[in-house]
Amino acid sequence: MISKAPSDWTLSPFPAPYRFAFSIIHDADSGYSRRLRPVFSCLEDLGLRVTATAFPFWADWADEGRIWSEWMEADPYFAPVAVPLEDDEERLFFQELAAAGHEIAMHTPSETSSTREQLIKAFAYFESVLGAPPRMYVEHSPRNNLDAQQREGADPTSRYYNTDLLNESRCWVWVLDELDGGRPTDKEATNLLVQEGAPFSGQSLSLYGIARGFLRNGSGEANGDTFLSQYTEEALDALEADGGLALLYTHLNYGWLDPETRKVRREIRDRLAYIAEKPVWLATGTEILDRFDAMRCVHLISGEGWLKLVNVGAGDVMSIGIRSDAGRGLIEHGKKLPAGEDGTLVVERLAAGETRTMLIEAEEFIAR
Ligand SMILES: [Zn+2]
Repeated sequence: MISKAPSDWTLSPFPAPYRFAFSIIHDADSGYSRRLRPVFSCLEDLGLRVTATAFPFWADWADEGRIWSEWMEADPYFAPVAVPLEDDEERLFFQELAAAGHEIAMHTPSETSSTREQLIKAFAYFESVLGAPPRMYVEHSPRNNLDAQQREGADPTSRYYNTDLLNESRCWVWVLDELDGGRPTDKEATNLLVQEGAPFSGQSLSLYGIARGFLRNGSGEANGDTFLSQYTEEALDALEADGGLALLYTHLNYGWLDPETRKVRREIRDRLAYIAEKPVWLATGTEILDRFDAMRCVHLISGEGWLKLVNVGAGDVMSIGIRSDAGRGLIEHGKKLPAGEDGTLVVERLAAGETRTMLIEAEEFIAR
């Protein structure tokens, strides 16, 4: 008979010794590498690795890149938008980001509607440029793109049908609902700030048949000002205290750069530094979603004087942190498990299908 673990034993969803997680998912909409580079440099200086989405191909309006002559005439620094991987300079930029440890994800094949055939080509092209297929796919605006699930992406009779391709890709898919009836939590201009619980499930995922989806909640325009107003020091302190997850969805192209200095706004840099100084897991979007997925298969079971960790999943799970507010210790094979900085006891590796029994030590050894 399985009993629930006493309430003072808790399993952290994050790899020990981290207490919470933060990452950014950057939307490619109006991006251009020359304006994005200073922002990514700032993130890298602070140790943040994030997820940057990219369009593989030019939008219809770009006339296969001939739009460049207009941009050069207007303003070579501020005019270019939605520059895709097809562009030589942009392709190099995203390769550099990947080499620096960031995740590159796909923001649909192009800024305008893409057929099923174009999506197949986009996956192949993405892989040829980055050396691996994308692990995350973020829908662009359903108002704009017929390939969105909410438009024709989930309609098997349409040339824009892609649900099956997205499922076969095994990508994490961010489904966007923004037309009439779309729930407010699904608006493009919002952020995921999950205090507790996993960032999965949701009406639109089951509605469209997306196998590996994620949703966000929160509110506000997805730009630098919203980051400052929502991710206050108080909100971040609460996130840390609650062991929460923040996947900040934003356009690093909007309001992150000071147009005068062409560097990241000072208050934004300061706020990011405030995050980076905490015991925070700074990983890419897919690394975080994969961890939550794996931890959904890890269970903590207890009885009189013992505790069991069970991994019913198909993959090994690393660095599992178990915490007891009562500060009690755990013994495995006669050896006390190591306590991390904050007293969390760490199981370094729980193999796929493994069950591990631990004795709860009668006397308190602690854990500082
Ligand atoms: Zn978009």
